[in-house]
Amino acid sequence: MDPFDNINNDHASLPRNMIENSMFEEEPDVVDLAKDSAAFPAFPALEPEEVVYEPRSSRLLVRGLGEAELDDEEEDYESSARLLGMSFMNRSSALRPSSSPYTRQALPRSCSRPSGRTVAVCVFILVLLVSISMVLYLLPGCTFTKAGCHKSNSSTPMELVYPRATNGKLFPWTELRLPASVRPVNYDLSLTPNLTTMTFTGHVVITMAIQHDTKRIVLHSATLNITKATFKLGGAEARQVEVLEYPAWQQIAVSFPEELRAGQTCELSLGYSSSLSHSYSGLYNSSYTDQSGARRVLAATQFEPLSARKAFPCFDEPSFKATFLIRVIREPGYISLSNMPRSKTSLLSGGLQEDEFERSLNMSSYLVAVIVADFTCVSRNVSNTLVSVYSVPDKKEHTHFALDTASSLLLFYNSFFDINYPLKKLDLVAIPDFLAGAMENWGVITFRETSLLVRNQSSPLDKQLVASVIAHELAHQWFGNLVTMRWWNDLWLNEGFATYMQYLSLDRQLPQLDAGNVFLSVRLEAMAKDALNSSHPVSTQVTSPEQVEEMFDSVSYEKGASILLMLNSSMPDGQFRKGIIKYLSRYSGSNTVTDDLWNSLTRAQVPAPSESVSDMMNTWTLQKGFPLVTATLQGRNLTLTQEHFLLSADNSTHTSSLWHIPITYVSDNCSFAPSCSQMFMLKNKTATVVLPSSVLWVKLNYRNTGFYMVHYGDQGWARLTDALSTNINTLTHQDRASLTHTIFALSRLGRVTFRQVLSLMSYVTNETETAPLLEALSQLRTVYLLLDKRQEQGLASRMKGYILEVFRPAMDVQGWGEEESVSRLEQRSALLEAACALGLQNCTQQALLLFNQYSAPNSTTRIPGDLQGVVYRAGAQTDAGWDFLLQAYGHASDAAEKRRLLRALASTQDARRIAWVLRAGLLGQDIQTQELPLVVRAVSDGFAGHLFAWDFVQQNWDQLIEKFPVGSYAIQSIIKSTTSQFSTQAHLEQVQAFFSSLKQRGSQMRSVLEATETIRLNQRWVDRILPTLQRWL
Ligand SMILES: [Zn+2]
Repeated sequence: MDPFDNINNDHASLPRNMIENSMFEEEPDVVDLAKDSAAFPAFPALEPEEVVYEPRSSRLLVRGLGEAELDDEEEDYESSARLLGMSFMNRSSALRPSSSPYTRQALPRSCSRPSGRTVAVCVFILVLLVSISMVLYLLPGCTFTKAGCHKSNSSTPMELVYPRATNGKLFPWTELRLPASVRPVNYDLSLTPNLTTMTFTGHVVITMAIQHDTKRIVLHSATLNITKATFKLGGAEARQVEVLEYPAWQQIAVSFPEELRAGQTCELSLGYSSSLSHSYSGLYNSSYTDQSGARRVLAATQFEPLSARKAFPCFDEPSFKATFLIRVIREPGYISLSNMPRSKTSLLSGGLQEDEFERSLNMSSYLVAVIVADFTCVSRNVSNTLVSVYSVPDKKEHTHFALDTASSLLLFYNSFFDINYPLKKLDLVAIPDFLAGAMENWGVITFRETSLLVRNQSSPLDKQLVASVIAHELAHQWFGNLVTMRWWNDLWLNEGFATYMQYLSLDRQLPQLDAGNVFLSVRLEAMAKDALNSSHPVSTQVTSPEQVEEMFDSVSYEKGASILLMLNSSMPDGQFRKGIIKYLSRYSGSNTVTDDLWNSLTRAQVPAPSESVSDMMNTWTLQKGFPLVTATLQGRNLTLTQEHFLLSADNSTHTSSLWHIPITYVSDNCSFAPSCSQMFMLKNKTATVVLPSSVLWVKLNYRNTGFYMVHYGDQGWARLTDALSTNINTLTHQDRASLTHTIFALSRLGRVTFRQVLSLMSYVTNETETAPLLEALSQLRTVYLLLDKRQEQGLASRMKGYILEVFRPAMDVQGWGEEESVSRLEQRSALLEAACALGLQNCTQQALLLFNQYSAPNSTTRIPGDLQGVVYRAGAQTDAGWDFLLQAYGHASDAAEKRRLLRALASTQDARRIAWVLRAGLLGQDIQTQELPLVVRAVSDGFAGHLFAWDFVQQNWDQLIEKFPVGSYAIQSIIKSTTSQFSTQAHLEQVQAFFSSLKQRGSQMRSVLEATETIRLNQRWVDRILPTLQRWL
């Protein structure tokens, strides 16, 4: 999936999960699919069916003795006891044999290589576990049992309490993850959406294979009204069965009086009905207004991560792959699309038609998709695959760029991965109402209109965006669809890879789109976020639905992509590609964990590498954050020291983390060409490199391909600053951008003074390249916004003057006519927007002039795409201009232009209009609700809007989480936009008080931790730099 904008939240583990994780480590025979699974190499080898997770809102799981109907479920007792930390509690020997495998095996397995460190870790874990068990037993342990708190020598045994199903009977399963005892093999699924009543009916026949003896089948189902259920075991007759429902965990179950035996196959048939969803997940309804003004309706699906269960009962976890035979019944005026090519259409009674699609390959439920709409398409045959781009009929003309791009990228990936795209067709479908940027459903990729539709005359910047999203989703057809992560903890295997491939493929196939600058800036941005204590490792334990949603963040996407770039750059040419070809062909059709990728990459290297790829990469995926390397130069000796770059300089959070860092460096002897770059692997805390000769300065992390920052000490920074002031071309533009990014980060960390920052900034008056200019602009703008929002008006105004002075040479050379180079367009649009926002007179006058031409009666003036932002925003500041833009927004058909109109509307400083825009985004009539995160962000940037936006979030929280799931990208974005510019104690307390009042409605989200940490850091930083600013600005 591709969230619609840069993703902006990192998360930290919750203390509660840390406790659980340490328990799992202690008890390795608990089969935990969410865990880093080096210890559990193959999914089918799972032995017991229990897969243990605790939801955030755990229900009571233990009851007193006496209910015989569940006496076969001792395994459940075991797993739940483990889950709740009761493994050290005194239990009845009748229920709990002393030779229980998990206590017996625990220590040997987790300490199988008793190095000193391992022994120490094991002892520590043991002590921790005993302590936790005691605490759990003595305190909250009371809540586990009906009988209340037991004395430690009590002989009263405990037993599981199963939750109550909706019919009052006991529901036979107590975990969020499904048991592994039954696996789906095939789904025969029929869906009949009714676009008049906005309801649908469905019928599914699930063929399953029994993996372990069991008396129950448990699967997912949400918001479905099940009307009929039959069950058939092997060749026996089908019989009616009772379906138990437990809506809190979105599960249903069928219990059987006798064991289903391993090796048997069976079939469960379910008939059901439901409403088409009004949100953006499951099978949902969407609508648009055509050119004649008529409202047209359609139905579409969005299942990732947890919503396939809202359209049909299924085993809705990525490792339960199966084949799907899908039929869609529709009215004749519509077409239907699904993952596979349509095999036939039959006429049904009542004039309805039934489309049947070919049986799919083995795939995960989150990749299933169905669309019923009145779309039209353009198509082309590309190496035995029919590529089609679908849109609403009025926008057929906007599909050609997407068709060309998808065709070219498909050929590229076929050859790069050395495995042909396996389906006979590939549809790319623009959906008028779509929350994410796009979704990689196998064979039928769905997009937001902005991410797929561009006109020929559209700005190359809009084309760059469309090509990036297509490149990302096409990469998923291999990384994600063909080979899928086993569980959401390794989501980065899908998303980090697709993100990396998106830049790599554009760089190779469409270099004119200049994706390199975008990749550099997202890498820098991901570092800013990963520097927070509230960040999390790339591979992170997740259990609850909210935690799964939260994995769709910059750590999975951008950091994932960054560490792949670093790895590729540190390997000999061509070996990275060889490794991923090996990985894809070996695991084609199955599920993997992170180590499977590293092992494939290690094996592909010739000669064998001195250390395995996992040894290096585990230091990047299993711990959060990234290293700060301090480089000290003394004569020929370059001493390197690494530490965790953690912005919260709280002494209690010091970590002993070490990374294996492929350090690259250049020096004043040779600093620009790739051949200048030398490499050194830093694995220890400190190391010294002896250079061939004395040098004046070094610059590490050549072209910023590594995910680490570098501090050069006072002397080192001074020399680099001098070098750049003397000759800007002494370093590559990526190196210049990374120096600017680093010095601001070091100022936040307290390692350099703001005077040193300003000193480096003095070189920027000579800068002409896009990446370093925009990096410097964005950093200084952040300082300006903080001062502005803190109402330091005098200083804010001096900062404004300073920015204009630094960038004046670059701003003055920007023209207002047509321009082709993507890099120049990026530069122009950012510089002019800043110039006008900061009140540079030339800029505002020219922008208003263009706006007046554009808004004149019967005008045919079209503003170039990259200038629309600055021109519309200038217009939006007057009453008449704003009203004109609102009308234009209503009529605009170009999706990218429409978003720029909306941003301009939200940039108004008029309080009533700000309130109206926010409200309209929430209601979804005048402004689509999918745009609300964008509206909130644009409003928050303004001085008048940012407090409004924060009030709006507080007042409308319940409605917001009805539209966007707790933890989702949209919610992460809304929290960040509204809180990240606060820097005072009063705001910190307000934000804390609001989020802690939410309790189950979001208080535990990682974005909340990030928000409060950011405010604290802002507060500290601004307090620290104020005196320097007073003195020097
Ligand atoms: Zn994706």
